[in-house]
Parts: sequence; C-alpha cells; structure tokens
Amino acid sequence: MQAPSKKKVIRASLLNPVSDQQVDLLPDTLLVLTPSADDTGDKIELMGNEEELASYLHPKSEYQIVDLRNYILIPGLIDLHFHWVQDAVRSAPKESLLEWLKNHTWPTEAKFADLDYSQLSAAKFSAELIKNGTMAGCCYSSIHDHTIDHIKNSFVGDFIVGTVIMTINSPDYLTQDPDEVIRVVTKRCQQLQAEYAVTPRFAPTVDPATLTAIGESAMKNGSFIQTHLAETKDEIDYVLSIFRQFPLFSDVNSYTDIYHRCKLLTPKTIMGHAIHLDESEWQLLAQTGTAIAHCPTSNAPLKELGLGSGLFNYQMADHYNIKWGLASDIGAGPHLSMFDVIRSFVEQNRRAGLNPTYTQGLFRSTLASAEIMGQKDLLGSFAPGKWANWLMLSGPNLNSKLDGEGVLSSLIGNKQQSRSDFYQLIQGRYYRGKMIG
Ligand SMILES: [Zn+2]
Repeated sequence: MQAPSKKKVIRASLLNPVSDQQVDLLPDTLLVLTPSADDTGDKIELMGNEEELASYLHPKSEYQIVDLRNYILIPGLIDLHFHWVQDAVRSAPKESLLEWLKNHTWPTEAKFADLDYSQLSAAKFSAELIKNGTMAGCCYSSIHDHTIDHIKNSFVGDFIVGTVIMTINSPDYLTQDPDEVIRVVTKRCQQLQAEYAVTPRFAPTVDPATLTAIGESAMKNGSFIQTHLAETKDEIDYVLSIFRQFPLFSDVNSYTDIYHRCKLLTPKTIMGHAIHLDESEWQLLAQTGTAIAHCPTSNAPLKELGLGSGLFNYQMADHYNIKWGLASDIGAGPHLSMFDVIRSFVEQNRRAGLNPTYTQGLFRSTLASAEIMGQKDLLGSFAPGKWANWLMLSGPNLNSKLDGEGVLSSLIGNKQQSRSDFYQLIQGRYYRGKMIG
C-alpha cells in the first residue's frame, strides 16, 4: 500500500496583493498546506514566519518542507474577460471593432461547430493559458453548447464560462433560434450555476425578449451575466439605432439603459470595456452593483495591436465604487499574459498623465477579480482558507531594498522584457498545492 503523502510546508518569499495601494512583500514566509475537506486539493491552513511556525520546521515534524526561497511567489493570475475561441485571430488586422468582428472573428468562431476542432482548440488554448500563469477568470465560448464542456474539461483552474448568444443582426451561420437559446441557457444555468455566465455577445445581436428571459434564468440559478458595453462610439450609435426601433425601447437613453431595461445589470454582471459612458450610465452601473472588466491591451492604440477604442476611466469607476478587474480580451486583445495587461494598464494611464502603479495592476488581476467572481475567500491572495495557487517568479535580489512596488516594477515594467516572452518570468506553477509545470 502506498504511504499517504506528507503534509507540506512551503518556504518562500511572497508578494501578497491587498489593495490598489498595498502589496505586502513577505520575505521567507511559511505556508502550511492541508487537503481540502472535499479532497480536491490543498488549501493554506496557516501562514507566518520562521519563529511563529517553528514547530513545522522541526526535523521530526510530519510535514515535508518545500524550499522555494529562490523564488518570489505571487497568487495565480485572474483574467476577467477573454474569448478562448478567438485565439486564432489575436493578430488579425484590426480596422475597427465592428469590421473586425464581421471579417475575422465570426468566421473563426463558426469553425467551433466541428467537435474535433473545438476539442483540440480547447486543449491547445488551455495549455497556453496556464503557461502564462492564468488560473481563474471569466470566458466567452462560441455559440456552440459543446464548447463549454470541451473548455471546462481542459482548463487548469477556476473559470466561469458561457456561450455567446446571437439571435439577430448576425450572419446566418451564427444566428440562433430564440426558443432554443432560452432552453439551452436555462439548462446550463441549472447545471452549472455560479460556474456559468449567461453571455449575450452584445446588445445588438440579441432580441430584447431573449435578453430578458436569459437574465431571469441567471438570477434564478445564481449564474453570472457577462457581455460587452460601450467599447467604441460607432458601436454605441449602431446599438441605439437598432434598439430605438423596438416598441419598448424607442425612448431608451443609453447603451447601459438597454441592459438595465432587460434586467441584466446585477451584482453578478460583468461588463466588458465600459469606456464611453455618460454620467447616468455610471450611476446605473453603481446602483445595480454591476462590475466592469477593463481590457487595456484590447483597447490600446492600433500600433500597440489593440482596437484603438480608448482608455477606460478607472478613476470614475473608483469614484462610484464600481468593482473592476483587468482582462486580456483575447482575441481583440493581442496578448495572453496578464503581465502584458498590467504593463499596458500602467503605461497607457501614465501617458494620460495619471499615476497608476504595478501594485494596483496586480491587485486588479488577482484579489479584485476574485471578489467579482464571488471567490474572494478562495482565490486572489495568500491567506488561510484559500486554495494553494501561485506562480514562482525568479525575482530580483530581495536584499536590494526594493519594496513590493519596486519588485513588481522591475519584473513587469522592465523594458528589456519582450512582450511575447512574459511567460518566461514564471519558473513554476502550483494549483491547489500541486506543482503543475
Ligand atoms: Zn470581449
């Protein structure tokens, strides 16, 4: 019979996100891990320094000591908005949002009707994602229901998934029957609950009755709702021109008001982008507890391989106390790595005269997003009770008197670091207490 594996004590330096202003740099810290009650992995039971947890280091202790002191550990990264079925169009030419969707994205997503293509793509995408250190997040599939099972079975991590919904203003090959949509969405809400997101692609591709019905299903079953909002000005004009033709929407005030009238703004709703909003829209998002996924690399200027949509006003979101997290928006966003996203967030906002930090970027790619996903007690930082998920970074020498912001800045903001090579910062990945590569 195999002997039970020893309980583990991890010894390492940690960077622990706390808030926009605070990341704790904790040299030589011990994490005591224990298997979770449902035996699906290890959680952090205790966390402290050598003195506080001396008994765990005793040679006769029942704990196996894993010495990772050559590394700096950060929590597994969280990507709050991405389209795993758009990996193949990340580097397609980007003229404008609406053109890019029609010319590149939709034909690519149509290929996922094929089961083998979908399954192989899911395996390939998941392998790339974990290589880049993303261990949780919210993602969009194509319209095809089987893609949910394929990607859920391939992911290493904790992800909320949904298939995009398209019942109007879509090419024939991606247009769905509303009754069938409502049936499938209801079934998925009941089956997957908070691991599922009702996912209208965006308002103009779904009729108002279906939008309202699928929102109700989400509410009833504790599922999330995710969609896009106010990414570009052309898009806003297009959306309003469509909805003002519907009987109950002729006097609709704004893009956000459309979702509000369909009862889609909720504390479990995550809106992608939200760049071009007026005051009344910010207020609607705040009143309803709606969260925002900010996608800086996707919104970046064309020369930085984004769609040139503009800059999200995070100060306004903070002013209204609206929760927001960072996201890659693959494939409008060109880069899988959340390090790229953090760097783009910092650089674009500094160019605009603001003062964002890498501390803020890390917080918005870990703990802030964990909270939006309803998993603050399990993900996003190092604390007792949370899953033992982290990335091992080969960091700068900690004797160099850098603080947490200094360490992050030298790792992520380093100009020598080529964007395509960001994953090379990661020397190892632990998911639920197991090294996975
Ligand atoms: Zn998107």
